[in-house]
Amino acid sequence: MTRMEQLEARLRAQPRRWLITGAAGFIGSHLVETLLKWDQPVRGLDNFSTGKKDNLREVQKSVNARQWGQFELLEGDIRDLEQCRRACAGVDLVLHQAALGSVPRSLADPLGSHAVNVTGTLNVFHAAREAGVHRVIYASSSAVYGDHPDLPKVEARTGQPLSPYAATKCINEIYAGVMQRCYGLPTIGLRYFNVFGPRQDPEGPYAAVIPRWIARLMRGETVEIYGDGLTSRDFCPVINVVLANLLAALTEKELPPGRVYNIAVGQRTTLNELHGLLCAHLHQARPNLKLPPPAYKDFRPGDVRHSLADITQAQQELGYEPLETVTEGLARSMDWYLTHLDLPAPQ
Ligand code: NAD
Repeated sequence: MTRMEQLEARLRAQPRRWLITGAAGFIGSHLVETLLKWDQPVRGLDNFSTGKKDNLREVQKSVNARQWGQFELLEGDIRDLEQCRRACAGVDLVLHQAALGSVPRSLADPLGSHAVNVTGTLNVFHAAREAGVHRVIYASSSAVYGDHPDLPKVEARTGQPLSPYAATKCINEIYAGVMQRCYGLPTIGLRYFNVFGPRQDPEGPYAAVIPRWIARLMRGETVEIYGDGLTSRDFCPVINVVLANLLAALTEKELPPGRVYNIAVGQRTTLNELHGLLCAHLHQARPNLKLPPPAYKDFRPGDVRHSLADITQAQQELGYEPLETVTEGLARSMDWYLTHLDLPAPQ
């Protein structure tokens, strides 16, 4: 049995009631999809600020009518404690994904990022504790490593945050530990490293690099690389993040307060390499597509130069092993982008 099959068997034998905040977002919608497919009752909370009804429509198409009937959507805002209370009522486990992502967005509007990511997260923790939720798994970020020079990144060694976004995730981790120490609410933080996959939004000023580049390349447009292209990231297929959330939710280990885990593949890819990989995938799928070389721009403020995770702690304590490599994840994402974005017809 694979790791996912084991988790599925456990949940089918003993279903849990789940709350997923940010359910209409990229990662949240994948969590909803997996849990509905495993016949779990799932409540989603989202204010659709960056999430999309289309993401949930896609989930609906991927499950049967009975499974979809197990999904309850609350349209609401985590900045509102009452709405968090309604969302947490009667729930066993919370997978808290709602946040305003993106370093540049947080630099443009630090107060907005703080209100959602810090106040909103504290509301979720507080409401979860009041409702007697068994455990809250929450999305942290590799951004918390900030200016710490060590590679690979090890959970215990973080530096100074380089953006308001990074600061919000550091504060989340502090509050998560406090909620456990002071109120006995078990929490586990997952530091995601550059997640990618189907349903990640390719448009807008704050789009993540992979979908943004794929969308541009598919339109025959030049991709902009900030810096010299040697900046590197540990790009992580979304299926690995789904696995990590479920492992953390169901672990039977007694963990110390404020436990956090790196969730990544544990492989480093430079932006130049990523550009080459995307071009190779696109060329294979659409041999006539013109793929212009990238344009190099100034480094962006707040960006970390290199990012690579040491995933040993998640492997040892949660039994996490990446299900997909970067190349496998890219192949699956490419299929999705090819069918979901307008493309010039193959000639
Ligand atoms: P996303 O923008 O697709 O999803 C976030 C969801 O939260 C959206 O559906 C949005 O509408 C919802 N949301 C935002 N503000 C809200 C509010 N005030 N109330 C209720 N819902 C609200 O982003 P994602 O990539 O799916 O990210 C999910 C989580 O993972 C976030 O916490 C993010 O910071 C974290 N994370 C993501 C990555 C990545 O590479 N995608 C990396 C590190 C951490």
